[in-house]
Amino acid sequence: MSMKIGFIGLGNMGAPMAANLAKAGHVVTGYDVAGTTAEGVAVATDIAGVTKGMDAVITMLPNGSILRQVAAQVIPHMTKGSLFIDCSTVDVESAKNTSEAAENEGILAVDAPVSGGIGGAAGGTLTFMAGGSEAAFEKAKPLFDIMGQKAVHCGDAGSGQAAKICNNMILGVTMIATCEAFALADKLGLDRQKMFDVVSTSSGYSWSMNAYCPAPGVGPQSPADNGYKPGFAAELMLKDLGLSQQAAEMANADTPMGELARSLYAAFVEEEDGSGKDFSAMLSRFEARNRG
Ligand code: NAD
Repeated sequence: MSMKIGFIGLGNMGAPMAANLAKAGHVVTGYDVAGTTAEGVAVATDIAGVTKGMDAVITMLPNGSILRQVAAQVIPHMTKGSLFIDCSTVDVESAKNTSEAAENEGILAVDAPVSGGIGGAAGGTLTFMAGGSEAAFEKAKPLFDIMGQKAVHCGDAGSGQAAKICNNMILGVTMIATCEAFALADKLGLDRQKMFDVVSTSSGYSWSMNAYCPAPGVGPQSPADNGYKPGFAAELMLKDLGLSQQAAEMANADTPMGELARSLYAAFVEEEDGSGKDFSAMLSRFEARNRG
């Protein structure tokens, strides 16, 4: 059944996601402060134009404070029983806070961050990690099925964000471990292809090594083979590692590896040459360094 959908935040991810919903036959209206547009999507000039009378409003925004601001403007215009889905990656607190504000107004809310990047958004193959009530998830599921290939209902409000940042904390840590091991292997005179052949089929294997190998010319095609053009930018990894540490602080969890990964990505992006590069370019950082 065709739905009327408002889509706020037509950036790298939001524009192709909104276009896929329109292509599937939904009536989509979009809004972005930067004036960006998306294929098949009507453009509203303000928040009211993208929220009033909609069956669902979807947001895809840079961070939690912008989400809170936008949600405060959106929720009063929404119809009771309609659906609010936030697909941005934000802190768990902002996700919970936004869901609660929506539910207090009789609106079904889901926090549903994604993995799969720009390619997944364009191809409709994202993975959604969703938090919220069963009723909200069931109502959102047909939209997830258009924009993605998998949607996991992780639990109550905030649990989609929790799953996302735990996953990306593992990813940041394993990418660093993989990069430093390659740099060590180089210094030990080990051929990189041999290193890949062994590790990718031994207990050191991981997605970072097997699917997204940081060494150019080794393993499947990855940003390493394209001058480390992102892919998944080092800045975005730094953002997600910051969110995991913020959550760990809030939950009183001990996450020393996550904190070390955050500080290494912070140095890479803010003080070295990591800005604008894929997060796997961390390999060149270790290559260039000596012990101590
Ligand atoms: P982006 O910066 O390209 O898009 C964000 C858009 O939001 C921009 O177009 C911006 O103009 C708009 N915006 C900002 N404030 C607004 C407001 N008040 N009202 C309306 N629009 C506003 O970012 P992106 O790469 O599309 O990422 C969006 C979210 O998805 C982020 O939370 C990011 O962490 C997450 N994410 C990104 C990727 C990726 O590979 N790019 C992967 C997974 C998750």
